[in-house]
Amino acid sequence: MSKQLLKTYIRQIIKETLEAEKKLRVFDLDDTLVKTNSKVHITKASGEELYLTPAKYAVYEKEPGDVFDYSDFQGLVDPKAIGWTTKILKRVINKHGTDAAVILTARGSEEPAREFFRLYDIPEIPIVALGNSDPEMKAQWIKYVAKKFGYKEIEFFDDSPKNIAAVQRLKVPGVKIIARLILHWIWIFFQNLFHNLHTNHHVIQ
Ligand SMILES: [Mg+2]
Repeated sequence: MSKQLLKTYIRQIIKETLEAEKKLRVFDLDDTLVKTNSKVHITKASGEELYLTPAKYAVYEKEPGDVFDYSDFQGLVDPKAIGWTTKILKRVINKHGTDAAVILTARGSEEPAREFFRLYDIPEIPIVALGNSDPEMKAQWIKYVAKKFGYKEIEFFDDSPKNIAAVQRLKVPGVKIIARLILHWIWIFFQNLFHNLHTNHHVIQ
């Protein structure tokens, strides 16, 4: 989402305040609102130790004797807020209150989200910790909430294409469901690129 889109989005939030429609925004935590260095630690039968990022862990083939340690995911390791999504979340809370947004995370604990609120001065909103990374779990939770609480619209923010696809497949009569893929890595890629160019420039000088 570009800066222009962010502006348009904020304008839309203000417009909705006037219209007071029943809308819920659902935010993923990891790599949508905050970037961390949490890793899965694996001790192999041979004694060898591996540290896998969540992306690498998702495609890791488990072997007999592997011992997994997920303790990094009980907190936030080296957290950095993703600026523009955090800004959207703050705007939503500011305009519509703490019931207008919810954190929906695959993590098994609510504590990391609370830590994120504390670190970035965000009022506490409801947290749903699924303890399961199956995209269908997120989709089914959204479907349940859409039916039960009579929302007119649900907007979902997530960096996982699989989660987005699962939510896009949902059909709930009378409820508009929007799924937005957060491509924060594009920003990180360009930031690194500029940083490298900048660094090289200095080296040449
Ligand atoms: Mg995520």
